[in-house]
Amino acid sequence: MSETETDPLGQPVAALAGVGGERASRLAKLGIRTVIDLLWHGPRRYEDRNQPHEAKALAKGDTGTVAGPIVAAGVKRMRHGKSLFEFILDDGTARLHCRWWNMPYMERYYKTGDFVHVHGKLTSEKPRTMDHPEAEVAEEGEEFIHLKRIVPVYRLTDGIKQRWLRAAMWRSVDQFADLVPDTNPGLLAGDDSHWLRLPEAFKAVHFPDDLGQTELARERLALEEFIRFQRQIRERRKIFQAKVKALPCGGDDRLVTPFLDALGFGFTGAQQRAWGDIARDMAGSHPMRRLLQGDVGSGKTAVAACAALRAIESGFSVVVLAPTEILAEQHHRVFSRWLEPLGIPVYLHTGARKTMGDPGQAELNMGNSKLPPLVIGTHALVEEKFALENIGLAIIDEQHKFGVEQRKKLVRKGQYPHVLVMTATPIPRTLGLTVYGDLDCSVIDEMPPGRGQVHTHVRTPESLPKVWGFIRDQLAAGRQAYIVYPRVDDEGGGSLKAVNQELENVREQLAPHAVGLLHGRLKSAEKEEAVAGFLAGDIKALLATSVIEVGVDISNATIMLIENADRFGLAQLHQLRGRIGRGVHESHCILVAGEATDEGRRRLDVMERGVDGFALAEEDLRQRGPGELLGQAQSGLPDFKFGNLIDDWRLIQKARDLVARELAV
Ligand code: ADP
Ligand code: MG
Repeated sequence: MSETETDPLGQPVAALAGVGGERASRLAKLGIRTVIDLLWHGPRRYEDRNQPHEAKALAKGDTGTVAGPIVAAGVKRMRHGKSLFEFILDDGTARLHCRWWNMPYMERYYKTGDFVHVHGKLTSEKPRTMDHPEAEVAEEGEEFIHLKRIVPVYRLTDGIKQRWLRAAMWRSVDQFADLVPDTNPGLLAGDDSHWLRLPEAFKAVHFPDDLGQTELARERLALEEFIRFQRQIRERRKIFQAKVKALPCGGDDRLVTPFLDALGFGFTGAQQRAWGDIARDMAGSHPMRRLLQGDVGSGKTAVAACAALRAIESGFSVVVLAPTEILAEQHHRVFSRWLEPLGIPVYLHTGARKTMGDPGQAELNMGNSKLPPLVIGTHALVEEKFALENIGLAIIDEQHKFGVEQRKKLVRKGQYPHVLVMTATPIPRTLGLTVYGDLDCSVIDEMPPGRGQVHTHVRTPESLPKVWGFIRDQLAAGRQAYIVYPRVDDEGGGSLKAVNQELENVREQLAPHAVGLLHGRLKSAEKEEAVAGFLAGDIKALLATSVIEVGVDISNATIMLIENADRFGLAQLHQLRGRIGRGVHESHCILVAGEATDEGRRRLDVMERGVDGFALAEEDLRQRGPGELLGQAQSGLPDFKFGNLIDDWRLIQKARDLVARELAV
């Protein structure tokens, strides 16, 4: 006999009384295949049918449940073939009109005299009206499930009705909840919070006696999900560590020490700690899997360079993956400057430029006493064609720009190399513990000394003349500026500024200072020329799209003007602002927006308050939700039924601690 036949919770829902093959296939659309899946399908919300709202007490815009008999019902035919089905419910306090457009068949289900519960939003008070409310007719003999109690309301799908699902759930909870094995009781016993047993939690989450129970029950079930997920992470890691031996990168400091000596600055305490973590990992017996987090400008690159040198002095080559050509070029410049004097070949490998094979300065200097190379590239590194011998370390910059798959593909170019991923987009705590839960984490939470302050100003388009005047003054004083617009080209919409259309205007505003142009659709050579000109100071202002968002490091730039700023995401605005404040001078970030949505306005407020990156990341998660925030990086994350990645940080942390303790004994 198979596992599912012996396990009542694992049996397919089709085996339940009242659920046929047809219904079972529809339930599968909700992810419900087995009895236990059904129990994990939690209510979307609850209705207190002990205490419905008085129809009279609802004001326009209020949402509520009202119960009473239908006193009139019928379909009205309207012009243009439209129809309106309406019934009027009278709960003794007032009459409530419930209307459905173009659903004339509703007439069959709701008849005068039926007792109904409706839930919806009052769209008008004269007469009291709800459009397309949820409605349910009370039937004899079912009082204890659908009426006179706190009633669960579930997410549905085509062919699955609320009453049917609720009744099926009632029977299943009754029959199966007590069979759900509780988590290892020892695991939660030591914990100071009081946790429900799982069977109790399932009962209370579906059919609570009072609303106060539901959150306790939800938390218990969410905790269970997080515990399982953390166990999975740990298991995966254990298997990986048992299977894989690390490439020996203990090093001997013969490259790291001269690098640090020549660097021209000392590491901050936070950089030292991060480098300490990395050096320990690389000397260890398991391949490093480490996330290096640090706000923009905190100095991650220099720490990554130490890691690279450690691999190279141990006899291994290094790959560095960057999200854009501009950033790859910049890394190429920086790493060449740092590493070539030590005799290390540094190559670039992007779609547009591949320098492997051209002898670099290092090879010319060193003849044939060759050290393993460092190769920096974009997505081109991930492609089939790219191969490099003896990879000891893969560095992935701005991790959030890549998916889990790309990371894996790069890593598979070697034999389980050490992996260092870097991100300047602070990861909200919940995601740090889940999505990135398989990585150890070092945080650089200290800025290098001698940085000028960054001031943020929110302005309307009317004040642009003054803003341009201010920027001209700054340029005259020797500073440089970024001017950022959301679009490359005006695509006819007209409301968003586009760099190609605005170039002449910006040149005029900033004359006599030279203005350069940078956006993603330029040829590589043109991009390089723009960045090089800006670096050299020949170009005073760079008119750009958000391509400059990641990583560009030019310390004399102190002005960031962003127009249509309300159209950018929080993380993006934060990254853009991170391009300034890198030198000793004071910097100014000017966010210009006209009419903005509430959300847009809120983002600008958050920016102006100048909160740190972590608080900002959490605000961003709250506004956009994990799906949009993570994009493709999300793959690999389970679909939590009760757990909430926005609010459940404490539960996630708790699950992690509990599982760590469980595995330690
Ligand atoms: P991140 O990649 O974290 O955004 P970078 O590594 O680009 O930051 O560093 C920003 C700038 O600060 C670079 O010019 C870098 O050389 C410089 N820098 C890094 N660490 C220090 C330090 N400890 N002291 C002074 N300058 C530093
Ligand atoms: Mg960087």
